[in-house]
Amino acid sequence: MLTLHCPYCGVDAEETELTGGGEAHLKRFGPESSDDDFEGYLFLRKNPRGVHFERWRHSYGCGKWFHAARCTMTLEVFGTYPAQTTEPPKAILDAIAKRRPGWNAAT
Ligand SMILES: [Zn+2]
Repeated sequence: MLTLHCPYCGVDAEETELTGGGEAHLKRFGPESSDDDFEGYLFLRKNPRGVHFERWRHSYGCGKWFHAARCTMTLEVFGTYPAQTTEPPKAILDAIAKRRPGWNAAT
C-alpha cells in the first residue's frame, strides 16, 4: 500500500486517506495563450514508468494539497513537499539521484 507523509500535519497517511490529483508542476496557460499551449495544459499529461511528481490531497486528514515524488513501478516514495512549490526541492531531487543513478528530470 502506498503511504505518503503529509508535509503539513506530519501524518504518514495511507492511500485510502488520500486523493490523487494528477501530475504536479503543470504550467498553466490561460485563454490568451495559443490553442496548442492551452490544449496541452488541458489534456496532455506525463505517464512515466518510473519517477513521477504528483499532486495529492490529504482528504481524510488536514485536507491540504501537497506534492509527492514517487516511482510508479515500485511505489517507492522519494519525498513529499508543499504544493506551493513551483518545482521539486533540491533535497527531493538529490534523494532521487541517489537512489536512481542516471535518472534525468527532463524525461
Ligand atoms: Zn495532512
